Amino acid sequence: MIRFDYEEPRTLAEASAVLKAHAGRASVLAGGTDLLVEIKEHLRRVHCVVNIKRIPGLDAVTFDAATGLRFGALTTARRIELDADVARHHPGLRQATRELGSIQVRHRATVVGNVCRASPSADTLPPLIADGAVIEIGNGTSTREMLLEDFFTGPGKTALQPGELVLAIRLPPAPARTGRIYIKHGRRRAMELATVGVAVSITLDEARICTKARIALGAVAATPIRARDSEAALEGRVVDATIIAHAADLAMAASRPISNVRASAAYRREMVSVLTRRALEQALATIP
Ligand SMILES: Cc1cc2nc3c(=O)[nH]c(=O)nc-3n(C[C@H](O)[C@H](O)[C@H](O)COP(=O)(O)OP(=O)(O)OC[C@H]3O[C@@H](n4cnc5c(N)ncnc54)[C@H](O)[C@@H]3O)c2cc1C
Repeated sequence: MIRFDYEEPRTLAEASAVLKAHAGRASVLAGGTDLLVEIKEHLRRVHCVVNIKRIPGLDAVTFDAATGLRFGALTTARRIELDADVARHHPGLRQATRELGSIQVRHRATVVGNVCRASPSADTLPPLIADGAVIEIGNGTSTREMLLEDFFTGPGKTALQPGELVLAIRLPPAPARTGRIYIKHGRRRAMELATVGVAVSITLDEARICTKARIALGAVAATPIRARDSEAALEGRVVDATIIAHAADLAMAASRPISNVRASAAYRREMVSVLTRRALEQALATIP
């Protein structure tokens, strides 16, 4: 029998107070698809589980053409997968949620839980980073926000301080003529963690010169990373096959994968190049 305290706070201030009181030994419970598995398999020891589902307002999803998309901490992957604004403006994120686990998992799992688990292979992280996501953090009395790409400090580690929890994620509106893609590569088509994940967000002007490129890679370093040299190689250029091949090689050079049961480091590096090229080609093909 694994014993732990269990709390169901009704407000953010209560939740934060419980988290603080247990000084790093309390865990937030959202969908529980990571947390409960980790507790059951003795991968995580907790003194207290803090279920945040009774806190009102954390499941809100809003979209505004001027400010973009905002979804709360209790928004499930399934909700994001089915959202029309997500499909239109963040197709990479939609694809990531479509491929996350099974439909049963997606009905429980939250996107913010996927983010806070901070697994390098988590599917939603590359498209959220490529789309410029901002994470909102609260401690019951004050809030702060940061770019999602700065939130991860190591495998399973985040910038959250004791007493803090994530309130929401915001995505700025996409500029016109932007193509967005997420490609997940795994050994099977379903119920598989990513061996490599590549998300691209690329914007062209009317002359098809790249005005902005964001490439985010998953499962090839201790945290999700941006391929900044690839982005710089694309920006300011008419994107042709030569530039795409160069950007793909630069992405491969940026990756620092490990070998594990799912793939060798060498295979992962090679796949970063293949998938970056493919993702760029597919994203560009969506821009008229
Ligand atoms: C069968 C199965 C298949 C899966 N397949 C995939 C897959 O293909 N791709 C993939 O990426 N993942 C996969 N997962 C992992 C999992 O479903 C996701 O990571 C999920 O999105 C986590 O969300 P949750 O709401 O269940 O989080 P929880 O398990 O409730 O929490 C996860 C972590 O985040 C913390 N947390 C949650 N919410 C907050 C918050 N608001 N503030 C601070 N901390 C918070 C928790 O304390 C915990 O540490 C799979 C899991 C299972 C069981």
